[in-house]
Amino acid sequence: MISIDTLLKYDRPGPRYTSYPTAPVWDEAFGPERFKAKIIETNSGKDLPPLSLYFHIPFCFSLCFYCGCHSIITKNRGHAGEYTSYLKREMENISPYINKDRKVIQLHWGGGSPDFLSPSEMEVLYGCIADNFTIAKDAELGVELDPRETTLDHLKALKGLGFNRISMGVQDFDPAVQKAVNRIQPEDITRRLVTWCRELGFYSVNTDLIYGLPYQTVESFKKTSDTVIDINPDRIAMFNYAHVPWMKKHQKMMKEDTLPHGREKLEILKMAIEKFTEAGYVYIGMDHFAKPQDELYIAQKQKTLYRNFQGYTTKAGCDLYGFGITSISMVGNCYAQNQKALKDYYSAVDAGMIASYRGYELNHDDLLRRHIITRLMCDFELTKSDVEERYGITFDHYFGKELKRLELFTDDGLLILHPEKIEITDSGRILIRNIAMAFDVYLEAPGRKMKFSRTI
Ligand code: SF4
Repeated sequence: MISIDTLLKYDRPGPRYTSYPTAPVWDEAFGPERFKAKIIETNSGKDLPPLSLYFHIPFCFSLCFYCGCHSIITKNRGHAGEYTSYLKREMENISPYINKDRKVIQLHWGGGSPDFLSPSEMEVLYGCIADNFTIAKDAELGVELDPRETTLDHLKALKGLGFNRISMGVQDFDPAVQKAVNRIQPEDITRRLVTWCRELGFYSVNTDLIYGLPYQTVESFKKTSDTVIDINPDRIAMFNYAHVPWMKKHQKMMKEDTLPHGREKLEILKMAIEKFTEAGYVYIGMDHFAKPQDELYIAQKQKTLYRNFQGYTTKAGCDLYGFGITSISMVGNCYAQNQKALKDYYSAVDAGMIASYRGYELNHDDLLRRHIITRLMCDFELTKSDVEERYGITFDHYFGKELKRLELFTDDGLLILHPEKIEITDSGRILIRNIAMAFDVYLEAPGRKMKFSRTI
């Protein structure tokens, strides 16, 4: 591990690269009609890639002050039935254009809180999906759950539908942190949900943590990490809190001077990496840990790991269709994002339209750079000849400026520039966002103002 002072030099705003180009580059010129044309185009021909489906359930009962998701806070459960009926109609609007031979190999419900739906509403939603798409028998079916709201009946319903992956928000077990972020979640509630998942035989249980929250210290987070290790999830996601109060006004509810910054955050991260790896987890990179037998780690070793809007995934090469407000689709060489406001989304669906409002079609240079950023973030190395063969370029010639930028990282021991490949060191993994930024042509584009959370 290199010194924290060295790492701190790189603390600056930067994207998380769940897409490239990042969402601020997309625009309304790529509206629903263009997306519809792309859907039709990418569903003709043979040997079409399998599908991944994402459903966004935006509702939550209370607001966590750190929240960076697209959530709607309400206690009115009545929203769930209406929203589910719109998801059904959105699927009915799109699915006629999608080739039925294409199998869904990945399905994910995120939010918000999917457990805002009752168990029977979950069954209705799944039934609509199965009516409109062909779900593979061995598909990966995942759902994000809030331990405070999820009941045993929810889990039984999910298990009965074939869901096999549960991801639950924990963030931090420290009561002072929980109070400051307005998310009181006693430890026994989390333990209870994990126990239920184990008893019902879910294949994989993931816990989400966040570092960078109010009042967190190395000592306090050590206790949280120990508790998580004791709970023994299959995967741990440890996200860097994205402080973007200009976009998420409610984040101002947390006092700025209670947030740990650069050095302390890095020390928390360093401690947690040491603790989780000592406990037998592998640091996949950026924000994920998994057990050595987990398919995420196996995919990483086999260089088939992929990164999309849900983070790291083993399902590379799918076309991804997103449903519900704000959800993002990645189809062929384009991105499309759905309407953000409930009323605009409902109007689009009522009109029988595709519910997207903006998007982007990648050109050759975008595809090339997306490939590089994805491989660097998943494999932590990049073989130049692989890129040259795929994209018909001479790497050193095409990326002369970018390689120059990377020299700074080599001086600090964060990466090694071999003649034939770029290799990121263990310390460099922490700064993978910064390294990826060297290949992002839009960060410097004149007239384009983009604001991101800090990389550390
Ligand atoms: S439960 Fe999740 S989505 Fe809902 S407010 Fe809290 S952080 Fe946001």
